[in-house]
Amino acid sequence: MRGINSAYGQLPPAFFFSRLTKTVSDYAADHPDRRLLRLGVGDVSGPLAPAVIEALHRAVDEQSRKESFHGYLPETGTDFMKAAVANYYRRRDMILSAKEIFISGGAADDLGAIGNLFAPNARVLVAEPAYPAYVDTNRMAGREILPLAGTRENGFLPLPEADTDADVVYLCSPNNPTGAAYTRAQLQRWVDWANACGAVIVFDAAYEAFVQDADVPHSIYELPGAEKCAVEICSLSKTAGFTGMRLGYTVVPETLVRDGCSLRDMWTQDRTTRTNGVSYVLQRAGEAALSPAGVSHSRDAVAVYQENGRILSEALMNAGVRFTGGRNAPYIWLPCPEGQSGWSFFDYLLRTAQIVVTPGEGFGGGGEKHVRLSCFGSREDTEEAAERLRRLFQKGM
Ligand code: PLP
Repeated sequence: MRGINSAYGQLPPAFFFSRLTKTVSDYAADHPDRRLLRLGVGDVSGPLAPAVIEALHRAVDEQSRKESFHGYLPETGTDFMKAAVANYYRRRDMILSAKEIFISGGAADDLGAIGNLFAPNARVLVAEPAYPAYVDTNRMAGREILPLAGTRENGFLPLPEADTDADVVYLCSPNNPTGAAYTRAQLQRWVDWANACGAVIVFDAAYEAFVQDADVPHSIYELPGAEKCAVEICSLSKTAGFTGMRLGYTVVPETLVRDGCSLRDMWTQDRTTRTNGVSYVLQRAGEAALSPAGVSHSRDAVAVYQENGRILSEALMNAGVRFTGGRNAPYIWLPCPEGQSGWSFFDYLLRTAQIVVTPGEGFGGGGEKHVRLSCFGSREDTEEAAERLRRLFQKGM
């Protein structure tokens, strides 16, 4: 067909999550007496911080009165929300100006759009397995992907080699799905590489709030030189339980210049052309989420998921199972028993132990032969799953 973007036809069919959901719901319908432990989801279970709820009510009331009503807002975000993000970074000694901060409707939106800044033939490196948007959005734009393999040998944290050559690289740390997180020294190698060869790093920091170890950076801008080579895309989804609210932010430093072009200016142009920004009410909620009261509430909520990670990790370690994640990230990446694919191990865990996981095939190259366990389940389900996994591995598969 003429005039249609044929790149969409090259994408993998979007059946992954529908197959997963159908398999689980069919099993649940056939076995109403069995208790399913759902460790597949990458979603938070709320509720939002009281400070956020109060801010939402206040903002809604403001919109109900002529004197305080807000219509269109600046496309790249309000001054108050940008100031809240700048303050959030300042806690770790990173100084950002309002013009470098872009408020978004979530990380997925900006991950989908950031490719607009790159040439149609840009060489894009993606550290895999990965959150699918990096590969799929670039494929939609007709770009070839150069896969960069995360493996058990490199701890699912691939590093640049002497011959690594690309224009753009997507990195996610702490990582979904592997739960692995780059140390400061490792991430510095990517920053130095990008500055040496002129590449741009797209750094997905969606899980920064889960970082526990001092040598794991929350932001790429903690590393010297990152302000000259990296865009950071982040979200309040996992930080503040905003998955159903939709609010995020992207940082494009003014010192990031390629081929004589300021990426910050290009992104401003892009956003002001393609979007009309995020609603006033949501930005007031975001401001509250990043206030001291909001951050303190989020820290407590994240601590619950971190403890889930510890419980699952301990059970797997005691059973002598090798895995990555469970610390600094809300995911555990588990290799399948010899000869099994992610899908077959998913089926096995569902039918034998009634534990729902996510097959690694959903995360591209290198994902097969693994499953992802989420730490976002309830404490009760997590403890029970840890016990069932311990018994299963002890018995042998
Ligand atoms: N990046 C990663 C690595 C994710 O896992 C997710 C969501 O699960 C996102 C981005 C999208 O986040 P948001 O809810 O802000 O769109």
